[in-house]
Amino acid sequence: MYDVIVVGGGNAALCAALMAREAGASVLLLESAPKAWRGGNSIHTRNLRCMHDAPQDVLEEAYPEEEYWQDLLKVTGGQTNETLARLVIRESSTCRDWMRKHGVHFQPSLSGTLSLSRTNAFFMGGGKALVNAYFRSAEALGVQMRYEAPVAHVELQDGVFKAVVLGNTHERIEGRSCVMACGGFESNREWMREAWGQTPEGDWPSDNFLIRGTRYNMGAVLKDVMNQGADMIGDPTQSHCVAIDARAPLYDGGITTRLDCVSLGVVLNKNAQRFYDEGEDFWPKRYALWGRLVALQPGQIGYPIIDSKAIGRFMPPVFEGVKADTLPELAQKLGLDVEAFMKTLNDYNAACHAGTFDHTVFDDCYTEGITPPKTHWARPIDTPPFYGYSVRPGITFTYLGFKSDERASVYFGGQRSPNLFAAGEIMSGNVLGKGYTAGVGMSIGTAFGRIAGTQAAMAAKTAASQHSSRISA
Ligand SMILES: Cc1cc2nc3c(=O)[nH]c(=O)nc-3n(C[C@H](O)[C@H](O)[C@H](O)COP(=O)(O)OP(=O)(O)OC[C@H]3O[C@@H](n4cnc5c(N)ncnc54)[C@H](O)[C@@H]3O)c2cc1C
Repeated sequence: MYDVIVVGGGNAALCAALMAREAGASVLLLESAPKAWRGGNSIHTRNLRCMHDAPQDVLEEAYPEEEYWQDLLKVTGGQTNETLARLVIRESSTCRDWMRKHGVHFQPSLSGTLSLSRTNAFFMGGGKALVNAYFRSAEALGVQMRYEAPVAHVELQDGVFKAVVLGNTHERIEGRSCVMACGGFESNREWMREAWGQTPEGDWPSDNFLIRGTRYNMGAVLKDVMNQGADMIGDPTQSHCVAIDARAPLYDGGITTRLDCVSLGVVLNKNAQRFYDEGEDFWPKRYALWGRLVALQPGQIGYPIIDSKAIGRFMPPVFEGVKADTLPELAQKLGLDVEAFMKTLNDYNAACHAGTFDHTVFDDCYTEGITPPKTHWARPIDTPPFYGYSVRPGITFTYLGFKSDERASVYFGGQRSPNLFAAGEIMSGNVLGKGYTAGVGMSIGTAFGRIAGTQAAMAAKTAASQHSSRISA
């Protein structure tokens, strides 16, 4: 029997496995993906949001706890557990030495992406290098690993973990404790349909969603343990959801399919109407809002429109945009109604109040007299060539998860399980009721992965000593 069974093979699972092993536990890690695809969404990441009170190696200036907390409070609209959020924030200031010990290297922020040099530490080689380093370190420490080992059932007795059962071989594996770190359910198209439902017109909006990361986050364990009465948190329709190029692949398009020009232009729906303030806030604080906004539009499609003034001011997307010398030609090429398009663009252009454009501050370029307004960085779209893109909702990860606490415990009817824990996306809804701020996904997974691993090792020790005292009694 293993002391600790860790379900999942991404950042949270690896942090849990490493900590449990360091605490002396025997550890088995079960990853549903084949080895070549191990690592879940974590392989697509680039950085971790870190609290710090003074400049630190790759991090500039300071990013104090209170500012981090206010950022989270703002993006979640208050739908966050302050105790757990502050725990994540504090952990983010101390975890990097431990990460380095396990082979993770950091580099300064890349310029021209999301302007994160003060708040986020970037992984040298990205998330793939981080995951590989953790796997190497875990292997060296003696963590047992199995790939193509999808857990289908978590066996419980009155909230006490007993064993897992694999979905493919039906093998039953016993453990003294378990950490569930196997992501959300974003890759499960049927569950997404169930969550998002059908429109009065008969469409299934989620059929038009793309999945930015792994195809293996099917939510099998989430559903299984939820059906056994686990206390849950979060709304199944809430997720980190980015507007991505509509031509992106269904899975694993990763970071390169994101389109970062929204705040430099306007975004129309398929009726050629604007539908939200494109200049509401800085892009790092708003990019994760636009997927959901597009999801709520007819046909779940949006069209960012820019002119040549915007070129060079945002990360170039991997797919080229549609280019035209005139606005009517652009509308035509995008398949939008030319008359409606021109009315929207003409109204917008006429509403732009001339100010001093500065994309690095909340400038005084805003619109007057149109709905919705564009409150910053509003400049007429009048300089050819013009560019247009089509975007779809790109789901990064879902927020429905297990209600948890500062020990990463799972609860059943308000009772804490003594030996079942959760970490990462599968419980991120405790901190992220909605919204997102760049880099906090890895902060949550690292903080709770490490806590869950330590707690699981302790629970296993307790279970083992209870067992031996029963035998000797
Ligand atoms: C394109 C992209 C870019 C991102 N960039 C960043 C970033 O720069 N910074 C940041 O903080 N966050 C970023 N995120 C979010 C980040 O990926 C997640 O918050 C984080 O990786 C979650 O880690 P996790 O371990 O909980 O889940 P994952 O890394 O998704 O791991 C889940 C694991 O569980 C496995 N699994 C699933 N079901 C089962 C099962 N039944 N049995 C066994 N194994 C199972 C999967 O195969 C996978 O290995 C990004 C996400 C994407 C998609």
